[in-house]
Amino acid sequence: MIELLLFRTGAVDIARSAFAPWLDGAAREERVLAPVWSALLRTPDGNILFDTGLHPVHVVRPDATFGPGGRGPRSASGASVSGLNVVMKDEDAVVARLAALGVRPDDVAIVVNSHLHFDHAGNNGAFPRATFIAQADHLAFAKGKPNFPGVYWDIPELTYVPVAGRSKVARGVEVVPTPGHAPGHQSLVVDLAETGRVVLTGDAAFTRANLERGEIPAMDQVAAKESLALIRSLANGDVSRIFTSHDADAWATWRHAPDAYR
Ligand SMILES: [Zn+2]
Repeated sequence: MIELLLFRTGAVDIARSAFAPWLDGAAREERVLAPVWSALLRTPDGNILFDTGLHPVHVVRPDATFGPGGRGPRSASGASVSGLNVVMKDEDAVVARLAALGVRPDDVAIVVNSHLHFDHAGNNGAFPRATFIAQADHLAFAKGKPNFPGVYWDIPELTYVPVAGRSKVARGVEVVPTPGHAPGHQSLVVDLAETGRVVLTGDAAFTRANLERGEIPAMDQVAAKESLALIRSLANGDVSRIFTSHDADAWATWRHAPDAYR
């Protein structure tokens, strides 16, 4: 029996157009407080963490990663992205969130990174005993790039297991490449006994609207659209079983830890 628990690790204050390029006029610049979240999977094969969230350095220094008015990690898309502001409280730190669930960092056997941007891999260093699963082409792409700050993930003590393509992580848990946001980006597919198959998209889909419209700002538009279609098919078209990365409206409707999807 697998349990899926979702918890916030902070938020980003960002222009709506960063996730929804189809918006016009004033709606483009309207700000949204978008959640950043991670997931804990309790499985018979051990605890698995999906994405490690924002580093708590941002509680006191919201601009710690990219500086004042810093351009977000998605500026590589070429789209004009207004600055993003990190909004984080002490209790958002992933180690604090896990502690509230009775889980210590060393109790996490496997960490799956959708990709290595700072809001998805910010606390990799907190899990020196875990095995990290990332796509080989993503690791190669991210290494040394300023918009994948290595301080959060390129740490000698960490054990990365590069995978290529769809790969089983545990019984009922599989990573599936969903490139477009970045090369080698991956999503996590989990088969739950009661809920059915769910997909944790990472930044392959920021919001439900990305899935419904088949549109998303991305580095590689062709790959990104294929990934959106793949994600929908993985969930059999049921978007209620797809957990997108930064959707304030959808987030409000989901179960949050300590409540679990089973
Ligand atoms: Zn993100």
